[in-house]
Amino acid sequence: MSFRNRFRFEHQIAALVGLLCLALVGATVTGAVWLERRSALALAEARLARLAAGMAESLDATLRERFREIQVLAGLEPLRERWGGDPTAIRGVLSAIRTTAPDYAWLGFVAPDGRVRVGTEGMLEGLAMTGRAWFETGLTRPNVGDVHEASLLNRLLVRAEPEPLRLVDLAAPVRDPAGHVIGVLGGHLSWDWAIRVRRRFLDEGLSGTDLWVLDRRGRVILGPHLGATPFGPGRVGAMVEQGSGRFAAAIGGETLLAGFASAAKGERSEIAGGDPGLGWLVVATRPEAQVLAPVRRSVEALMGLGAAVAMIGVALALCLGRRAAAPLRRMTAAADRIGRDADATTLPRLDGSREFVALSAALRSLLRRIGTAERELNDVAARSTRVAAFYRRQIEDLRQVAGTDALTGLLNRRGFAAPAEDAFAQARSGRCGIAVLVVDIDHFKHVNDQNGHDAGDAVIRHVGALLAEAVRSTDTVARFGGEEFVVLLVGLGGPEAALIAERLCAAVRAAEIPHAGGTIPVTVSIGVATLSPRDPDIQAAIARADAALYEAKARGRDRISVAATAEAVERAA
Ligand code: GH3
Ligand code: MG
Ligand code: MG
Repeated sequence: MSFRNRFRFEHQIAALVGLLCLALVGATVTGAVWLERRSALALAEARLARLAAGMAESLDATLRERFREIQVLAGLEPLRERWGGDPTAIRGVLSAIRTTAPDYAWLGFVAPDGRVRVGTEGMLEGLAMTGRAWFETGLTRPNVGDVHEASLLNRLLVRAEPEPLRLVDLAAPVRDPAGHVIGVLGGHLSWDWAIRVRRRFLDEGLSGTDLWVLDRRGRVILGPHLGATPFGPGRVGAMVEQGSGRFAAAIGGETLLAGFASAAKGERSEIAGGDPGLGWLVVATRPEAQVLAPVRRSVEALMGLGAAVAMIGVALALCLGRRAAAPLRRMTAAADRIGRDADATTLPRLDGSREFVALSAALRSLLRRIGTAERELNDVAARSTRVAAFYRRQIEDLRQVAGTDALTGLLNRRGFAAPAEDAFAQARSGRCGIAVLVVDIDHFKHVNDQNGHDAGDAVIRHVGALLAEAVRSTDTVARFGGEEFVVLLVGLGGPEAALIAERLCAAVRAAEIPHAGGTIPVTVSIGVATLSPRDPDIQAAIARADAALYEAKARGRDRISVAATAEAVERAA
């Protein structure tokens, strides 16, 4: 029985449907996940790139504005006469600018010798700026310096941010009408500005979004892990080269999606200090796991839905399978009863589908044909039984006829063989003695001659009947031919047999056989012999009895003669 044959029909159908549902749902979910994942990642990266670009643009705009402001202010015609004059006037102008642009932590004018002549709110006035990059470069050209930690102003300024004050230095040379440098206008842009910009853009981002500003070497100048280099030099180089774009990278054990844009780039932002500018990179990141969380949720929902669909499918398939198999099961049960249960003779008529109807019709018709064939077979069997019985009887009759003497109805020589063998077997087992008499009618030729052949027959019949009547039912009388009979006496020894022979002799002698109004006188001579243990068969005893018969004949007939026993004969020999 194969693996498939061991399961019920409905279970096979249900398993198939279940597998089909799971395969369909699996394929659908996998496809949907792939598409959704792809679009979610693309969307998230695009969003991050936009966010980075927005923040870069915002940083650039402010930086550009402030830088231009410093340059315009340094070259402003009405102020040209005043830089070297009363510091109060200049202090007033610088304070006014700081009020309109609060991103400045400090604005000041430094004399060519490096001493601060004027500072907003008098801060740093009189202190030497010699050696500071912004001042030294500012003596020759406008410039912007990268963000750095404030050393002096940190102590002087009151701020909202907890972290140390950091500054971006802006500077431009101030010249007299003749074009000679008479000092440097410097502005320290508070990095708090960039912190606020970052915070604003973070508010726009989705949960998990982070924003970094890196310097041109990839070090974090804004965002978590200040001073760290989250991206390798290869990645930083690629970002600087591309200017903007997106990527995914494994950082700190998780995959981050990132969008980036360069900021404070020399040629674009018109920031002097010229090419290549400050070369900042704004990078917006978001963990991939967070981007894919909704995808995972929808996958789970889809799988749940799929499992539910599969379960409903399996349940439906079970019901349908059971319904479909029910007629077959009925048919099987009915077929199983046929031949065991006397009432069950046919199969039920099925409905449900055309195949079942056809199947039941075909099986019922088959059953009818089998029934017909069976009846015919029974008839033939009965007929042959009758014929066999008839022939058995015939054979029995024939056997009887063959073993029976037609004239007397006694056994003939052939019929005598069976009882003689039985008796011989009995005698051999030592259970009893056996004696045989050979009886012959005396001068029978005369009977025939004087009374005719029919009268002779009547005599033979009469003598036979007389012998049969005179012996016991266990003894056997047979006509051996002509007017000669053999009597088998079972369980008797020689003396008893001789007595019986005498009695038979006397009985025949006394018999009156009617013929032609008178009677026919008849006598018999009898030879008597007993079976010896050495005799090979009854025939040996009959031969001795026959010899004794001749002796009786010789001695004058109508008498008996007892044969000598086989042992006596042997001794005599
Ligand atoms: P014995 O006393 O010596 O026996 O003289 P027997 O005349 O009887 O001599 P035997 O036995 O030779 O003769 C038998 C005769 O019996 C010969 C035959 O014609 C006659 N016979 C034999 N069979 C039948 C028979 O079936 N019917 C009639 N009617 N006669 C028969
Ligand atoms: Mg004879
Ligand atoms: Mg005779």
